[in-house]
Order: sequence, then C-alpha cells, then structure tokens
Amino acid sequence: MTPERYAKIRRVLSLRQPTLSVLMDEVNKPHNFSAILRTCDAVGVLRAHAVPPKVFQGGGFEAGTRALPTFEATSGSAHKWVQVQTHDDAVSAVQQLQTQGFQVLATHLSQRSLDYREPDYTRPTVVLLGAEKWGVSDAAAEAADQNIVIPMMGMVQSLNVSVAAASILFEAQRQRLAAGMYAAPQLSDEELEKLAFEWSYP
Ligand code: SAM
Repeated sequence: MTPERYAKIRRVLSLRQPTLSVLMDEVNKPHNFSAILRTCDAVGVLRAHAVPPKVFQGGGFEAGTRALPTFEATSGSAHKWVQVQTHDDAVSAVQQLQTQGFQVLATHLSQRSLDYREPDYTRPTVVLLGAEKWGVSDAAAEAADQNIVIPMMGMVQSLNVSVAAASILFEAQRQRLAAGMYAAPQLSDEELEKLAFEWSYP
C-alpha cells in the first residue's frame, strides 16, 4: 500500500454518501448489474441493495435459488468498493429501508409518477430499479414513497436499466453537490477509519 493509494482511498471515502442508494429488483443481466454498481461508485453510493433474481438453470445453483448476477468486466472493479446488501423481496426491502429513514423512489410509470428531476435527492434516498423484462412490480411501486420517470420522447418505451440508473443517480449527485454534501465527509470518523482499513487490506 503506497501513501498515494491510501490517500486516494481516504479521499473517495470522504465523498461517500451513505444516504444515497439503489434497490435493484431482480436486475438479472450481469452487464446491467455491473454497470449500475459502477455508476454507484462514481456518485458515492456506499451500499447498494438488491433482490437477486431467481436462477433458472446452471451456474451451480438449484433452479429457483436467488443469486446475484455474476460481476464482470463492466463493473470496472466497482463491486469491490460498493457493498451489496441482498433482500428476499422488493416490498419488504422497501419497507425496511423506509423504516431506516429513506424515501424510496420507484422508477415506474403510474398516475402519481413525477419527472425524475423533481424529488429532493438531498434527503436519504433509495432509487428502486426494476427487472429488464418486467420492470418494478405494482406492489413495490405502491409501497414506494414516490414513482419517478425519465421522460421518453422517442419510439421506444423504456431505457436500458443501467442508463436509467445513471441518469437518476447523476441528478442526485448534481443536487447533492449544490447542497455541499460532498464538501465534508458524510461518514462518521469511526466508519471512515474502519472502511479505510478494510479497503486498504481487502
Ligand atoms: N417492460 C418493462 C416495464 O414496462 O416496466 C420495461 C423495464 S425497463 C427495460 C427496466 C428498468 O429500467 C425499469 O424497471 C426502470 O427501473 C428503468 N427504466 C427504464 N426506462 C425508464 C424511464 N423512462 N424512467 C425511469 N426508469 C426507467
């Protein structure tokens, strides 16, 4: 561990935003899962959340087992720097995160959907992202505090999930930069020291 590397670790940790996260509901393509983690790292997400998709065949798992999509080159090693907490199902994950004080914003088109730039992302926020094929379930969208959408003006109805995640997380970063939330560490001294040690000696 060089002094430069240790200084970089401390600098990155001082920018981490423990109050900003995503909940990936059965995002199943490894390149999407990895790209989302890479964006999480870029904006300072400390911990991401995921309901792992069910495995239908192979991979050494029994059919029906839930498993995170394997990390691959797309993550650019982000999986080393963004922890992933797994959950059994999206509705209970939403409720648990709300109990911890997060507003949950579901990316879902509904009667109550807002433009994704409207919410206040300086509040503790989790962005709920849906599976590539099915999107966010109605039950999870209803359990969320708000539904948000990125306006679509083309022929295709939806974006790739990792592109949607990046657009929303960088709006959150923009608001948090403007509010000075990257100017001082959001982690406590104790947490920062602990993580600096863990990241230095993985
Ligand atoms: N057929 C699915 C549906 O109707 O919801 C499409 C799912 S889309 C390919 C996968 C995920 O990307 C969505 O669940 C959402 O998380 C995100 N997404 C895609 N387009 C979006 C948009 N315009 N606004 C917000 N989120 C979007």
